[in-house]
Amino acid sequence: MSTAFGTTLHTAPGQSESQGHQMLQRAAMVRQVAQGIFAYLPFGWRTVRKIEAVLRAEMERIGCQEISMPVVNPADLWKQSGRYTGIGPELARFADRRGRDMVLAMTHEEIVTSLARSEIGSYRDLPRMVFQLQTKFRDDARPRAGLLRVREFTMKDAYSFDRDEEGLARQYRAQYQAYFTIFKRCGVPIRAVLSDVGMMGGSMAHEFMYITPIGEDTLLLCDACGFAANREVATFRKPSTASEAVTVHHWEGGGKLVTAVLRADTELNETKLANLVHASGPRDITVVDDAVQNTGYKADIIGDITAARAGDPCPECGHALRTTRGVEAGNIFKLGTKYSADLGAVFVDADGERRPLIMGCYGIGVGRLLGCAAEEHHDDKGLRLPASIAPYHVHLALLDDINSEVGTLAQRYYDELWAHGIEVLLDDRTERPGVKFADADVIGLPLRLTLGKKGFAAGTAELRDRATGATTTVPLDNVVTEVRNRIAAMLTTLAAPITVDLPAELR
Ligand SMILES: [Zn+2]
Repeated sequence: MSTAFGTTLHTAPGQSESQGHQMLQRAAMVRQVAQGIFAYLPFGWRTVRKIEAVLRAEMERIGCQEISMPVVNPADLWKQSGRYTGIGPELARFADRRGRDMVLAMTHEEIVTSLARSEIGSYRDLPRMVFQLQTKFRDDARPRAGLLRVREFTMKDAYSFDRDEEGLARQYRAQYQAYFTIFKRCGVPIRAVLSDVGMMGGSMAHEFMYITPIGEDTLLLCDACGFAANREVATFRKPSTASEAVTVHHWEGGGKLVTAVLRADTELNETKLANLVHASGPRDITVVDDAVQNTGYKADIIGDITAARAGDPCPECGHALRTTRGVEAGNIFKLGTKYSADLGAVFVDADGERRPLIMGCYGIGVGRLLGCAAEEHHDDKGLRLPASIAPYHVHLALLDDINSEVGTLAQRYYDELWAHGIEVLLDDRTERPGVKFADADVIGLPLRLTLGKKGFAAGTAELRDRATGATTTVPLDNVVTEVRNRIAAMLTTLAAPITVDLPAELR
């Protein structure tokens, strides 16, 4: 630690509503370079690489192959997909030296589809699934909460290609299950919720939500049957009794004036409305909620445009729904043929017909996952990330000079533990014990091994569990074995396989 690049801090610079992010800064893991743009220092980067290793392992386990696609994309492909004009200023556009339009990719559907166009020719080449860990840039107007909402980020983005809907359903399910394993291995509890398929014409989407009061999304959950959905799409059992009292909203979207009519005392869900309106023609229209009867309004579209609220009956079982807030830590999306049709990625099926590839896409932000882990695993003294993603396993606090007898033993423990795959951070600085303990708490490695003159004389060292605060005195001869056993137990628990109950819509 005497040579560590990065300084722990007593207080976090700036304000963040995320306590976890404050601790990431105090622990010398991350530094903000510009709004929504971050650098990782050595401790933080070790954690990022561990998260990436988990992502790689779990993708490869389900047959997803790693590739790498460029950050700088020719705009032509984005013009073909319609996103060059369809996306606002969050897409960074620029011209290269020859004046050709380029973009900084914020996702890679266009590039991966163009690759599939050349690499997949027939149904015999299907199914396929690829992923990458790559930098993205999205010029978000409102970056916030540290790593939870940023502009530049690394994402695990995976893409699947199939000949039919059953194939897509199979690969979608594999990703769905892999996500639970990934988040469990990283110590982030999540809920999968049905989410908005947006205007991309997809048929299904799920978000993996980390439940926290600082989350931006509102979720509706049923404690009786497990139903879970983002408020943007959540449905509920509507009263069947006639209602003549209505609320009328005037709404503008997609160049149209929309009159929205719903039952009195209910709230408009703009996402539902936008999705319905998007599918209609260019003229001004009236949309009437399907729970409204006898209003005298002439409906162009009748559909569900009401926001679900806490207390509304669950659409599956009728139990009262409750609301909570969450951060979207990952998402999976059935794209269908949206990109393959626009970019001409077709394959020849068994019957000789040319059909567009059926696609899915699957994303997890690496930094956001770290942000969620830090939010979940900290106390008022600092971080306490799980052993699977903590920068090191053991903080060896040496309370004597490195050149002393005690220092020599510390060096021996250090070498032996590393030889056994236990990652040790040795605090060999000439600082007071109080300073060393405070730093051990703020960095928060799973185990602290303290070695000082007093203990040495008595033939013991002290082990302290960061998560529980429990301390144990260990005879010097047993230190290496004890540390190895404890860390092995932690890692085994985190890596233990889990069974995922598939929701009704995926069975
Ligand atoms: Zn229910």
